[in-house]
Amino acid sequence: MTALYKLTGTLQQYAWGGESYIPHLIGFTAQQNQPYAEWWLGAHSSSPSMIEIEAREIPLNQFLKQNPTVLGEQSRAMFGDELPYLLKILDVKQPLSIQLHPTKQQAEIGFAAENARGVDLKDPTRTYKDNNHKPEMMIALSDFWLLHGFKPKTAILHTLRERQSLSALADQLEKQDLHSFYATIMQADQTQLANWLLPILTQNQLTNLTPENPDYWVLYSQQEMAISLDKLDAGLMCFYLFNIVQVKQGEGIFQDAGIPHAYLRGQNIELMACSDNVIRGGLTPKHVDIEELLKVIDCREVMPELIPAAPQVNGLFTYTTPAKDFALANIRYDNTSKINGTAKNAIILLVMQGRLKISEKTTALELKQGESAFICADTDYQIDGVENGYAVLAKLP
Ligand SMILES: [Zn+2]
Repeated sequence: MTALYKLTGTLQQYAWGGESYIPHLIGFTAQQNQPYAEWWLGAHSSSPSMIEIEAREIPLNQFLKQNPTVLGEQSRAMFGDELPYLLKILDVKQPLSIQLHPTKQQAEIGFAAENARGVDLKDPTRTYKDNNHKPEMMIALSDFWLLHGFKPKTAILHTLRERQSLSALADQLEKQDLHSFYATIMQADQTQLANWLLPILTQNQLTNLTPENPDYWVLYSQQEMAISLDKLDAGLMCFYLFNIVQVKQGEGIFQDAGIPHAYLRGQNIELMACSDNVIRGGLTPKHVDIEELLKVIDCREVMPELIPAAPQVNGLFTYTTPAKDFALANIRYDNTSKINGTAKNAIILLVMQGRLKISEKTTALELKQGESAFICADTDYQIDGVENGYAVLAKLP
């Protein structure tokens, strides 16, 4: 059996996506007024990539079911007969909902509990779609903004005191811990939200604010997400509680279980464990399960730690994260580069820029920007740069 196949991802046209970034990167013609939010490379059963076998395309999850050994021994021992990770490109034009992900144990308990209660998997109020955790990492492809974890309490107090309509909240927080304070905010009614937020929304102008200022994102989200002033979203208050983080192109960040986060603007590469378990925490018209949110949220004070960018030199570089379910590597090349590697477990390669040739004993593929390949476990491969650029590899650590 050959050990190297062409792979084609799938598109997710969520309404928050941009119109041109993904079509341009992947190399297809964008249709007018269509959102192109995500490009997926993986075997997730809801949208599997297509693998090309003898000029025929079959879904990757089906291929893995028929040929589980291509995953690799270590991968199968740790994660069973499924690809443990999912690689994505995201183009965030409008802010995404605030979310967090459970630990493995919380997911196992939550999934079993909802099954026992007979909540259908497609029920919009269902929280746990599977029994897996979902650590995730991302590398920014542009200047990227996100919310990430609670700020230190002293910083939150300072932020609240700076705003007249929020200063009473600072007095309240003095007497509370972050978890109970957060619970109060997330369960506030429309009158309270209006008292806190309307003065800020009506007395500021977006053009006079900078993105380091939480007011900027309150105004920006209200406008971009068309949140009605008489139906304010408690998630808007989180801009005063969470770290607003700028990730520069090439740098990244890791989201551990329980840490609240929201992607606000920009493009990125995302690599995550194969799971759909998302607990929403506002900035969404969808169901917010307050009880589960308060159970799973990690209110520890977070100092955001960025993953340093890959060096701009030819060769292979692997980003460091605490994840055991996946690792992301970066290969930079020019037309003289030769890089050898061994896939101990299955790898997905995506060409981000330029052109390369990848070969093993019996097969060779030439791939240009936007094209990808599936490399089976136990394959010695060689990558020859054809045209200056870089590719990313999703794999196990
Ligand atoms: Zn997430």
